[in-house]
Amino acid sequence: MEVPPNDLPARIGETGESLDWGAQLDLVERALEEVEASLVRLDDGTYATCEVCSVRIDETVLEAAPTTSRCPDHS
Ligand SMILES: [Zn+2]
Repeated sequence: MEVPPNDLPARIGETGESLDWGAQLDLVERALEEVEASLVRLDDGTYATCEVCSVRIDETVLEAAPTTSRCPDHS
């Protein structure tokens, strides 16, 4: 099963203890990449808009998943 990118920080907390170090490092690196991508989107003004349909992403969604780049319809 593929992990939705938006769930990564939550999954690190939930499953961290049962993963080996390589898998944990992989999750952390992917989470870091998402944060860096979010910072780029903040810079170019596309943060909080869906990368698929360009709709404004709801604040409650962003609070739950600050690094999301897609609206609930496309996540
Ligand atoms: Zn969308």
